[in-house]
Amino acid sequence: MIASDVSLKKFNTFGIDVSAKLFSQAENEDHVRNVIQSNEFKKNSTLILGGGSNLLFTKDFNGLVLKNHIQGIEILEETDDFVFVKVGGGVVWHDFVLHCIDKGWNGVENLSLIPGNVGASPMQNIGAYGVEIKEVFHELEAIHLKSGEIHYFRNEDCCFGYRDSVFKNKVKGEYLISRVIYKLSKKPNYNISYGAIEKQLENMGIKDLSAKSVSDAVIAIRQSKLPDPSKIGNSGSFFKNPIVTQSTFDSIKLKFPNVVAYPAGEDLMKLAAGWLIEQAGWKGKTYGNYGVHKNQALVLVNYGGASGKEIYDLSSRILDSIKEKFGVNLEREVNIY
Ligand code: FAD
Ligand code: NAP
Repeated sequence: MIASDVSLKKFNTFGIDVSAKLFSQAENEDHVRNVIQSNEFKKNSTLILGGGSNLLFTKDFNGLVLKNHIQGIEILEETDDFVFVKVGGGVVWHDFVLHCIDKGWNGVENLSLIPGNVGASPMQNIGAYGVEIKEVFHELEAIHLKSGEIHYFRNEDCCFGYRDSVFKNKVKGEYLISRVIYKLSKKPNYNISYGAIEKQLENMGIKDLSAKSVSDAVIAIRQSKLPDPSKIGNSGSFFKNPIVTQSTFDSIKLKFPNVVAYPAGEDLMKLAAGWLIEQAGWKGKTYGNYGVHKNQALVLVNYGGASGKEIYDLSSRILDSIKEKFGVNLEREVNIY
């Protein structure tokens, strides 16, 4: 049930060649409980792993990696308007999106092609193209790693924020999210407010909106801009877009009139971190087998054989340079181990 000295290379989309001292893949809740009752679990630090698409290993993991592979998609309740569906945390997120589109359930089409698994979707309240998971999230089941009990978190318990939740803060490392319940709409209500989607739909000649057409547009945009992790190692956006006060934004704009930013609540602005990094001259920079992606400055890449430490150090140099040029503190979005 628990293996020793397992390579993690195929379990992280950066493709970093490190290993775990101990490794187990959980197929169900009983498997998780058995692992957490074991001596190996009690004596070692633990990492819960999903698809490995939002983390960077900077060294071997000297503990127990518990990969969540719990499957299943089950309808709990259905009305004329909504469906409540419970999904195993180990289900691949994009497979779930395709399942919803197939069934005519709306709400996750803008989140098409995000790598990773369902169990990690609430971790950072995944978001893209104007939609966040919190909009369709109903409840989750999580196994408490000390007691083995199942605890339930409703939407308000998760304290969802911009790429953030209670699981990255107050209860960090305490739970394995085993199943997630989403509330999806059976009525069409598509969000194409994000300029790029409208433009893409137009380019594709699509006039009749459907979850499928919105998903197709999102997939086409993503494939044209983002590196495919199966070909070039990466973990998506390495940094979060910083949220600053209106007055900070005003002083940045005085110096950099073209700064790209969007309103983010009362008196707050979200700066496009990709723009800041590009202006600081990092876009496309390559250092041997790693660097900053040529089309998207937010994405750091491993062209093959780079170490996590090299990529981490590059991210530190970028943080310093953005602070120096714009006076802005960027934060890493990717989880570092
Ligand atoms: P992992 O990388 O395995 O884990 C991430 C963190 O969550 C770790 O700290 C891990 O310990 C924890 N964790 C994972 N599963 C569980 C669980 N079941 N219980 C408790 N803790 C857990 N993100 C977006 O929000 N929007 C995007 O548009 C987006 N685009 C991306 C594009 C690319 C090309 C890539 C490579 C990544 C992108 N990401 C995006 C980031 C990433 O795909 C998401 O954050 C995804 O939800 C991570 O899922 P995962 O299963 O791979 O998590
Ligand atoms: P983009 O469309 O080039 O836009 C650049 C930035 O401006 C984005 O980060 C986005 O913020 C913001 N933005 C653009 N239009 C906006 C609008 N109408 N309202 C509010 N904010 C707007 O971005 P991209 O890099 O190609 O990514 C497209 C989408 O996929 C984004 O939502 C992005 O977050 C998501 N994505 C996420 C990851 C990840 O790893 N987290 C990786 C790739 C793509 P937001 O990021 O807040 O949307």
